[in-house]
Amino acid sequence: MIYLDHHATTPLDPRVFEAMKPFFLEKFGNAASREHEFGREAADAVEAARARVAALIGADESEIVFTSGATESDNLAIKGHRRQDSRDKIVTVATEHPAVLDSCAAVERASNLYVIHLRPGSDGLVDPAKIKAAVDERTLLVSVMFANNEIGVLQDIPAIGALCKERGAIFHTDAAQAAGKVPIDVRAMDIHLLSLSAHKMHGPKGIGALYVRKRIPRVKLQPLIDGGGHEGGLRSGTLNVPAIVGFGAACEIARSEMSAEAKRLGKLRDKLWRGLSRGLDLVTLNGHPDQRLPGNLNVSFKFVESESLMMALAGIAVSSGAACTTTKAEPSHVLKALGLPEDLARSSIRFGLGRFTTAEEIDTVVERVVAAVKKLRKLSPLYKAGK
Ligand SMILES: *Cc1c(COP(=O)(O)O)cnc(C)c1O
Repeated sequence: MIYLDHHATTPLDPRVFEAMKPFFLEKFGNAASREHEFGREAADAVEAARARVAALIGADESEIVFTSGATESDNLAIKGHRRQDSRDKIVTVATEHPAVLDSCAAVERASNLYVIHLRPGSDGLVDPAKIKAAVDERTLLVSVMFANNEIGVLQDIPAIGALCKERGAIFHTDAAQAAGKVPIDVRAMDIHLLSLSAHKMHGPKGIGALYVRKRIPRVKLQPLIDGGGHEGGLRSGTLNVPAIVGFGAACEIARSEMSAEAKRLGKLRDKLWRGLSRGLDLVTLNGHPDQRLPGNLNVSFKFVESESLMMALAGIAVSSGAACTTTKAEPSHVLKALGLPEDLARSSIRFGLGRFTTAEEIDTVVERVVAAVKKLRKLSPLYKAGK
């Protein structure tokens, strides 16, 4: 089995697992029970992990709120705002993750806020001029993801941050795919709110964080979950100590290995693209060729249905760009927003490389994909006619 679906989730790094283990068994204390040693031990571990998460994005420890993952962080970042009379607009992008799009839609239904969805260019990037035109003195919140989970493109976050600062709008970015893969500095990039997920960076599932800026400006949010007042009142509930410790370890490893790992993955990704584009005709890369995550490749194989191709690739875990939402396979909203014709959107495959991906695996994948696409096209009257 070869796993190339690292945008969906990543395997736990064994070093992360080792760090977590004691907190399931002997170190089981409640981090809120500071009156005894069991609780203090857990609380100290949580604070050490918080510092590691903060260090990955250039934040202060006090600005990290632990959540159940990036979905919850996106919900809190978007739904946590009190309506202001002077600012009633949210600006976001059509290619965002459903956690952002659906949170925006919920806010729009529940309050008098209205949402504007910007369209990216055909390369997946939002033109900062478009954002400049949309963000004004009535804009409360701007939410633009750091890296896209399907096509891997990296938006111009510093430019968007600077613009939001100038217009007095709050800037949220979903960095679930970007964190640990590319450098992030919330201060230099003028980010106010940032969503993280541990399981996208070789940490455990069910844990994430929201960075909430404390100074210049101090961002005030309303909690989604009320209770004992954990996490500065923003997220009540007993802390998941083993998961938080694992998240901290994952951040520390990602931070120390990021630059070397980005180079390694970038080379493997380029090797994969070279192999596919040399071995086959009518293959196209979706998304900007360079402004993308080092481990992402999204390719359309014209005249081949992605579902059939994935079936032919048994033993290789990839994902179709056409994510199945319900029973009906809808073409991906991301590829549609790029203006990709429906047939190309339905023939796209997302390759996601990760920490344990090897050059040998890439060789095997190139061989298998090239053979499978050739075989499927042989059966396609459209391919013969279209040639
Ligand atoms: C995976 C992902 C999420 C959801 O994160 P969870 O921690 O699984 O809730 C949100 N946004 C993006 C961009 C993602 O890739």
